[in-house]
Amino acid sequence: HSNTEKNPTKLSEPTPYDVKVDSLMGLMTLREKIGQTIMYSGGWTVTGPTVSSNNKKYIKEGNVGAMLNVYSVKGTRDLQKMAVEETRLGIPLLFGYDVIHGFRTIFPINLGLAASWDLEDIEKGSRIAAEEASAEGIHWTFAPMVDIGRDPRWGRISEGAGEDVYLGSEIAKAYVKGFQGDDLSKHNTILACAKHFVGYGAAQAGRDYHTVNMGEDELRNVYLPPFEAAVDVGVETFMTAFNELNGVPATGNKFIFRDILRDEWDFNGFVVTDYTAINELVPHGFAKDEKEATKLAIDAGIDMDMMSDANRLYLEALVNEGKVDIALIDDACRRILLTKYKLGLFDDPYRYCNEQREKEVIYKPEFLEAARKSAAMSSVLLKNDDKALPLDKNQTIALIGPLVKDKENIIGNWAAAGDRKGKAISVYQGVQEYLNKAKVIYAKGCEIEGDDDSGFQSAIKAARHADKVLMVVGEDYDMSGEAASRTNIKLPGRQTDLIKAIRKAVPNKKIVLILMNGRPLDLSEEVTLADAILETWFPGTSGGHGVADVLFGSYNPSGKLPVTFPRTLGQVPIYYNMKNTGRPIPPNNPKEDYKSNYIDIQNTPLFSFGHGLSYTNYDYSDFKLSTTTMGFSDTLTASISITNTGDYDGYEVVQLYVHDKVGSITRPVKELKGFKKVFLKKGESQTLSFNLTAEDLKYYNNEIFTVEPGEFEIAIKGSSEFDFEHTFTLE
Ligand code: BGC
Repeated sequence: HSNTEKNPTKLSEPTPYDVKVDSLMGLMTLREKIGQTIMYSGGWTVTGPTVSSNNKKYIKEGNVGAMLNVYSVKGTRDLQKMAVEETRLGIPLLFGYDVIHGFRTIFPINLGLAASWDLEDIEKGSRIAAEEASAEGIHWTFAPMVDIGRDPRWGRISEGAGEDVYLGSEIAKAYVKGFQGDDLSKHNTILACAKHFVGYGAAQAGRDYHTVNMGEDELRNVYLPPFEAAVDVGVETFMTAFNELNGVPATGNKFIFRDILRDEWDFNGFVVTDYTAINELVPHGFAKDEKEATKLAIDAGIDMDMMSDANRLYLEALVNEGKVDIALIDDACRRILLTKYKLGLFDDPYRYCNEQREKEVIYKPEFLEAARKSAAMSSVLLKNDDKALPLDKNQTIALIGPLVKDKENIIGNWAAAGDRKGKAISVYQGVQEYLNKAKVIYAKGCEIEGDDDSGFQSAIKAARHADKVLMVVGEDYDMSGEAASRTNIKLPGRQTDLIKAIRKAVPNKKIVLILMNGRPLDLSEEVTLADAILETWFPGTSGGHGVADVLFGSYNPSGKLPVTFPRTLGQVPIYYNMKNTGRPIPPNNPKEDYKSNYIDIQNTPLFSFGHGLSYTNYDYSDFKLSTTTMGFSDTLTASISITNTGDYDGYEVVQLYVHDKVGSITRPVKELKGFKKVFLKKGESQTLSFNLTAEDLKYYNNEIFTVEPGEFEIAIKGSSEFDFEHTFTLE
């Protein structure tokens, strides 16, 4: 029996599996249907994930649809066997896991991957993660996190693609395509999950899970588009956010899940809560108890309960009491079963997951090589005075700092099943492989955190004996990620003091800082002390190799910041596409006083969105527009000639920005509308063209999505830090 007529959410595209799902659902009891909407977590022991006896009992009763945090061939196979052989209907389980930037082979953290602006590489990395994860029985990753992040205090800024809506949307698509591949029924694909819907990155004061309050203009113009982009490329699942949005916690928010996701976007996958998020409706003050929370969640359009144990306890009673429409449960169950069919689980519940395949796939040399390349491409050269970099293979180098030999932090937070010690390549190892006769003098100097400066003296000694000083400093991996917000975004512990001490001891030697961190840091002191700064984020399993490739010039750095680095935390939030005030800073301010600035610091950031240096120079010239008056159905072509005028071959990320000068609601001062990563040999020139249509200029004006006639500024540049010189008119 089917309830599609009563179904309040439309299933817009019937799949060949609909008939199968219908007949299966015809056999299911209400209890079993509810079971499909329930996910439990494996626990951890020293030897790996375990599953509680209660959970096993529920599985055998046919009352569990999915498990998370079980991720080994044996672990997943044993449970799957239980589900398909010991339950009444034999419906296979779905295994989910946080495969965020790699599974075993760990790639740079996501903020770092975003700094590569390399969509192909991000897609490829996600494909590799899917290969590895699926070989150990994983079907579903809770990624990508496509939350816009504009507050460096927020620890989860490390998991996203940064501050920009266009870049974030393109990257969201690349992840989804990589994880899901072109055919979900293939055994090496996994379901992607766009999370956290929605507004999580806008948590007040950067405190995790905190209140979010924003107008519909900001919601629709900034925070929603990366999610819609994920839907556009067929993302199969969505996860709720922990935060409230304008007074309504996301997990009970009909407006975002029913009105927007289902009705406006025609999403036909399923929605999972975040971990225990149904329970949390109670402390939010949105439900009087967990039973009411259960009703509010399913009413809002939530299909699967992750770890609240609410659906098991309350859903059946809520139906019997007439408080929850059974059609809602049918709809949730149907969506989950359809996904299981699409994955091919009913044909092979194990999806060819076995020890042999695991052995062949995990840490494949080509995967480690790909991770090395990603690490190099993610590194951003923030500063490089007097050619402090690249390094000379024949010079003696002092390698100083708490992260030089580190193999634990280097793979970053949310490192899935990545090996935190054995497999990772440290910067120390990476550098050593490059040196000829010269040598490395190592000194730790200090810890990442804490007050101890007893290592300073030997670090100073090392610096005195070397030709050049390289310092590897940054954060612990667990200072970013979930529940890891900071109110201070400087280098922790005594690290800045160590840099100062060394600068003082060797005033004429070049000091190069290599940074590992999960958020934009306040580098206002470091920038005056160091000759060069290379931001490597947490570069992953092959991080030491990738970073050394950049240090020695085998890879000419091409990363560009996906997020603004402020001069001081007091400027936060600060991002390139802010709005103007009525009192902009000169020269736009005719009065030149009572400007919208701080009295103690400039408005500009330390490093802008889109910034990133190279060992060569790129000259931008000959900007052209195909027309300066564009009709609503025209395509405008903007072109530029780029010449590599320096001594190294390299990639440049070329960025197209526009500014909608007047709108029925105000528009950002700049908006990224396109980018291209181009390879240029030294001396080579290329002309690049970008096409722009009225569709690209659309925005939400508090009533509708629209594009309005008027004047636009436009530029093609190597970063967001520039003044516009060209305009066109849309009419
Ligand atoms: C996080 C999610 C994650 C989930 C499962 C939650 O605490 O917010 O992003 O997918 O745990 O591990």
